Amino acid sequence: MDFNRKLSVMLYDIDRADNLLLGAIGEALTESGALYCLDCSQIGETLIDAGESARYALFPTGGALLSGQIVFEDGATIEAALIGREGVVLSSAAMHPAPSIARISVLHGGHIVAAPLSVMRRACERAEHVRLAVSQYCDGVVRALMRATACASTHTLEQRVARRLLSIHARTQQTAIATTQEHLAGLFGVGRSYMNRILSVWRAQGVILRSRGALHIQNLRALQRLACACGDDFQIAGPAPATVFAPNGAGPLVVRE
Ligand SMILES: [Zn+2]
Repeated sequence: MDFNRKLSVMLYDIDRADNLLLGAIGEALTESGALYCLDCSQIGETLIDAGESARYALFPTGGALLSGQIVFEDGATIEAALIGREGVVLSSAAMHPAPSIARISVLHGGHIVAAPLSVMRRACERAEHVRLAVSQYCDGVVRALMRATACASTHTLEQRVARRLLSIHARTQQTAIATTQEHLAGLFGVGRSYMNRILSVWRAQGVILRSRGALHIQNLRALQRLACACGDDFQIAGPAPATVFAPNGAGPLVVRE
């Protein structure tokens, strides 16, 4: 993606609480330099490609959702992470430009706040609560990825697909999820017919509805019962922005005493 073309000085009145991590550290970031806003409306657009050196930390806000995909040598991709309003896409905890291990693309459109890594570094140098929040967030991501690895080799495909739909719903707060049977099959590395069987059963049970290009959650509780317990709920607790919860149920991130 051509950031020079898309980046603009913050024109939108984005509430920092629209991103839980930004809500906790946004003030220190804006005191350390200019942040930018990306208006990402094109679903599937690649923001950072695998191997590309990323110079910005990306904070999805509101219902914006990014997908982190591992790209294999034959061009196949498997989704490894979802990043929404709970967190940030940061290619290096040291906050120096480093090749991205994943392809980062838009799953649900919206506004994304881009913070240059130089601004992230300055804010970390100046404010301990920023250092703490970022390092704890990165720790949470590692724990979540370890849990996801264990999940992939233990839980059934049905459980994992249900979990993914719930993860998207938790971040976007929308029951309509833009995806297709083919797309889902590709993400989980299975055949379309296998995915079709799962979705057909769920439709017959009234769990979901299918429409062109989207799945609609009809019965949230039923979907929760179908999902494995590798939860990635996130929430903000206490007077914002006192505490931010890490992704994937890794526990609270206390960023300010
Ligand atoms: Zn699981």
